[in-house]
Amino acid sequence: MDWPRPQKCLAKSALRMPFQYTIGRPVEAAGVGLHTAVQSHLRLVPAPAGTGIVFCRTDLDGFRIEAHVGNVARVSYATSLMKQGVLLSTTEHLLAALYSCGVDNVFIEIDNLELPILDGSAQPFIQMLQRAGLRRLRRRRTYLKVVRALEVSDGDRRIGIYPHDDFTVSCFVDYAHPKVGRQEIEIRVNRDSFSRELATARTFCFMSDFEGLRAMGLIRGGTLENAIVLSADDILNGPVRFPDEFVRHKALDLIGDLALIGRPLKARVVAHKAGHALHTQLVTRLLADPTLWIETTVESEREAGAASPPLRAPVPAPATD
Ligand SMILES: [Zn+2]
Repeated sequence: MDWPRPQKCLAKSALRMPFQYTIGRPVEAAGVGLHTAVQSHLRLVPAPAGTGIVFCRTDLDGFRIEAHVGNVARVSYATSLMKQGVLLSTTEHLLAALYSCGVDNVFIEIDNLELPILDGSAQPFIQMLQRAGLRRLRRRRTYLKVVRALEVSDGDRRIGIYPHDDFTVSCFVDYAHPKVGRQEIEIRVNRDSFSRELATARTFCFMSDFEGLRAMGLIRGGTLENAIVLSADDILNGPVRFPDEFVRHKALDLIGDLALIGRPLKARVVAHKAGHALHTQLVTRLLADPTLWIETTVESEREAGAASPPLRAPVPAPATD
């Protein structure tokens, strides 16, 4: 897919972008939430440097919920944020698009408690960002660079984060279903690779889980238009967009949950049959232990050089913007 050019701000890899970004102009979308079936209107609005990604419930006087793991409420089949009792559900697909495209600062205005699921993928959000464009701000971006490994597991599900000079994710799934089975993907995450390889991968649901999920009050907005639905041995609403669309969607979900770190990442993340609960546990434990990471800028990385030990202290950003 094509991004608007010429725009020097649209550098290919977020990791080579020394400055913070917001979007160029407001953009809107509307639709129903996958789990609650409520209709919501979504508007992305440019935000100044240092804002981060912030949801604003316009139906509740603009109440703000920062996209940060400290605000994670509960995770099961989607990631929900909650602050002072105000809930916001299914944040991961939009956050995956923003994080992969290097959008550091944006207000996400929304007039209900769940983001629209749209087609079940992150593609409509990528299209919104293409319409909005990106705008470079004058403040330097600070990366979270992992310097020591961290692993979290739950039975045969596990996830690990490891030192790496770029941001890559690796996902493995294994579903006992003839159309899924074992699938694996590894990807270096940036705007182009995300748009090309992951953004269009849709969420999926097994018919065998359907009644249980409904009983739990979930997927009330689920239709054959916003999720791949799997019967006992087939796909009800094929064709799939990729033969391995399932693991691609898992990688998309993982990136959306890693966005809750609140700043760009330099690390390799490896997920084995993981889901939102393990993703957010990893992020919580990572941020709770500052010996696992350092804060760097593109400049401090250059100055430190490949052979030198990394800087321990965060690099203060100039107070512009
Ligand atoms: Zn998802």
